[in-house]
Formats: sequence, structure tokens, C-alpha cells
Amino acid sequence: MPTKKLKYYLFVIGCQMNLSDAERLETILQSIGYTKTTKEAEADFIGVVSCAVRQKAMDRIYGKIRQWNLIKESRPLITLLTGCVLKHDKNKLKYQFDILLDMKDIQKLPEQLQSRQATLGNFIPAISYLQIKPSYESKFKAYVPIMTGCNKFCTYCAVPYTRGPEVSRPAEEIFTEIKELLNKGYKEITLLGQNVNSYGLDNKDTRSPNYKKKMLSFAELLEKINSWRGDFWLRFVTSHPYDMSDDLISVMAERKHLAEYLHLPVQSGNNDILKKMNRYYTVESYLEKLFDIRQKIPGISVSTDIIVGFAGETEKQFLDTAKLMQQAKYDMAYIAQYSPRPGTSAHRLYKDSVPAEEKKRRENYLNEILKTTAKEYNQKFTNQFTTVLVDGIKNKKLYGKNREFKTVQFIGQKKLIGNFVKVKIKNTGPWGLIGNKIK
Ligand code: SF4
Repeated sequence: MPTKKLKYYLFVIGCQMNLSDAERLETILQSIGYTKTTKEAEADFIGVVSCAVRQKAMDRIYGKIRQWNLIKESRPLITLLTGCVLKHDKNKLKYQFDILLDMKDIQKLPEQLQSRQATLGNFIPAISYLQIKPSYESKFKAYVPIMTGCNKFCTYCAVPYTRGPEVSRPAEEIFTEIKELLNKGYKEITLLGQNVNSYGLDNKDTRSPNYKKKMLSFAELLEKINSWRGDFWLRFVTSHPYDMSDDLISVMAERKHLAEYLHLPVQSGNNDILKKMNRYYTVESYLEKLFDIRQKIPGISVSTDIIVGFAGETEKQFLDTAKLMQQAKYDMAYIAQYSPRPGTSAHRLYKDSVPAEEKKRRENYLNEILKTTAKEYNQKFTNQFTTVLVDGIKNKKLYGKNREFKTVQFIGQKKLIGNFVKVKIKNTGPWGLIGNKIK
């Protein structure tokens, strides 16, 4: 065993899947004797869990690795690059980082470190990286991945290249992880996947004792967890509209643990752009599904993702998206300016001809529509009671999310963090609600 306690620092960017992957990486590092630091300056090991979705994220990594390589001139430091990394960036960064590993191979990290940094204890490699027990960031809410990869090949997206094809996790493994969390008192479980709705369709679960049987569908998986006893909320992200089945909508309509919130990325409100994106649905079929969901689950809150300025998007095509936003009346929308990713088909096929300032204008325009629709939706909470899972405290106010994924603030004691609290709403705005705790 080395005398000095080695410290690790993680630089994690991107989606919830990356946060969840980082929790597994932490388990590996801790099991071989590293302790966590939040200061880059004192780290002996720096791990990057990268995101390939936008160039901005990659630019940050290029900037960081230059700084870290300068540190190496004065003291030992090992750097790792994992997560979503495009081939193009891998080739450029392989001489900058000490270790490059795909997340699915992260169990190999201890042996790679041993040869470089005299590490320690035994880490028994799991069969798959998802079998590594995560070091959960929170003591009351957890992300549980149910699948990895994606088969959809949206033309702008890097994920199918960085994460590979869809592989569903065995249902028994998912149930065990969730049951352990619930036994520890966890209050919120979020099931993760790039497209959770296609869970089970790959049917390649050779590790499952039920291999010969058809795997559970996503609706069946949810139905099972939703039938359990206990006081917890169940969420999932992300859903592809094409795979949003009637069965799934029916299970969601049962509510119980399943929260009244759905993230349903639309990306564009123009059919030609949707076709160029390879999204498998039209504006009409998307809206039909959305209205059906709203009818079957009254009060559900819906958020979306939108890309502006994709592949020469004209003003008319952009205005179609603005129109769709007005019709869909989203509660939240994550609006991104198109950023071509090398290696994707959009990068190869289409010119990125919309100027940066025009993309910005379109983003702002859509945000104004969102502000109106979100404000309108939130007003219905005025003088209503809502239950909040308290996340933390800021500016002397507790804050957390309700079942509809709205941020709620109220005055209360710190000891309520991690608990469900009933709140009466007195003020609403587009981005949240303010209320009083019910005694
Ligand atoms: S569904 Fe499309 S956007 Fe989502 S991960 Fe798959 S390829 Fe990417």
C-alpha cells in the first residue's frame, strides 16, 4: 500500500447518463484506495467523463488538458478520458491523455493505473460496467441506467457512434438495484437510457437467466416497478416519440409512483427538417401523440429538446417550430443551437449555413414562447397544494421538485432536505413556484 493517500478529481460534462457513469467510476477509484477531492490542484488523478453532443463541451476539454499537462511538469498526475468521445477527438486527444477507455471497459482502469501510479487494493472486475455498484451522489434520489447505446441514428447526433448499439440491462439487475435503493430510504428513482422507450427491443440479454424468453418491454418494466409498495417517485428519461407506445401511455396514466412528467424531444416543427434529422415522425404524428398523452394524463408536465439552425433551416422552417411550440405549450424546452459533430451524417451531408447570430436570435425567440407557455401552466398551481422532494437550501430557502418537475421554493428547516414536504403555492413564474410549508 502506498503511504500517501492518492486523490481523484472528476470533470463530468453532459447528460444524466454521464453523471450516473461517473458514480460507477468513483466506486472503482475508491475501491483501489483513492479519495475524492473537489480541487483539481491537489489531485493525483483526473478523470474526464466527456460529452460529444456539442463542440463547446469538447473545447472545454481541450482547454483543460493543456492546463493539466502543464501541472505534470512539476509533479506526477495521471489523466483519463472516458464517456462520449468521437473518433475524430479520440485521435486528437490520445497523445494528450494518459489513459483512454470506453465507459463499457472502465473495469480495466485499475490495471492501467497500477502500472503508472502504484495503486492499491483489489477491485474485482464486474461482468459489465453497469454491474459496478455506483457511489451515489445523493442519499435520497438516484439515477438507474436501464440500457446503453442508441439505434436511432438521428443525423446530428454523436451518441450511436460513441456509445454503440442499444443494449438493455437485464430486468432482474435493474429491480435489484432499485430495491436496494428503496430499502435504504431513497425517495426518487430516475430510469436512464438514450431512448428508454426501446428498452428490451434488442433482446440480446445473454446474461439474464430468462435469456430464451422475450425481454420485458419498457411499459412492462415500468408497470412492475409501479406496482411495488412504498413511498417513492419514479421518473424516466429520455423518450423517443416514435417508440412512445400506447401501452406506455396507459402505464403512465396509472400514476401512483410514476410522476406526472414527460420529456419528449421534438427537435423541430418542420417535416422537411425532421426528415433531414432522421427522426421517424412528422409534426402531425408528434402532436397527435402529445395531445393523447395530455388527455389521458391531465395535468402532466411536458418538456422537450429543440435544435435551431439545423442544416440550412430557413426562416419559414424555423417559424414552423415556433408554431409547434405554441401548439404544444411546453413546460420546459432545452433549446440548442445546431453544432455539427464530425463523424455524423449531418456533418457529411449538410452545410451548416445558418450564421451564429441568427441561431442565437432563433433560440431567444423560442425562449420567449416558452416563457409564456410555462408561465401559463404554472399559474394553475396558485393556491394549490403540491408535494416537494426537498433537494437543498439556497438564500435561506429550501428548494426541490414536485411530481411535475417544477422547482418549488419555500422557507423551512434544513433537516427537511431529502424528505417529501407538502407546500401551498402562493406565487408562480415561468421557471418555478414559491409557497409555504403546510404545518
Ligand atoms: S434518439 Fe437520436 S438524439 Fe437520441 S441518442 Fe439516439 S441518435 Fe441521439
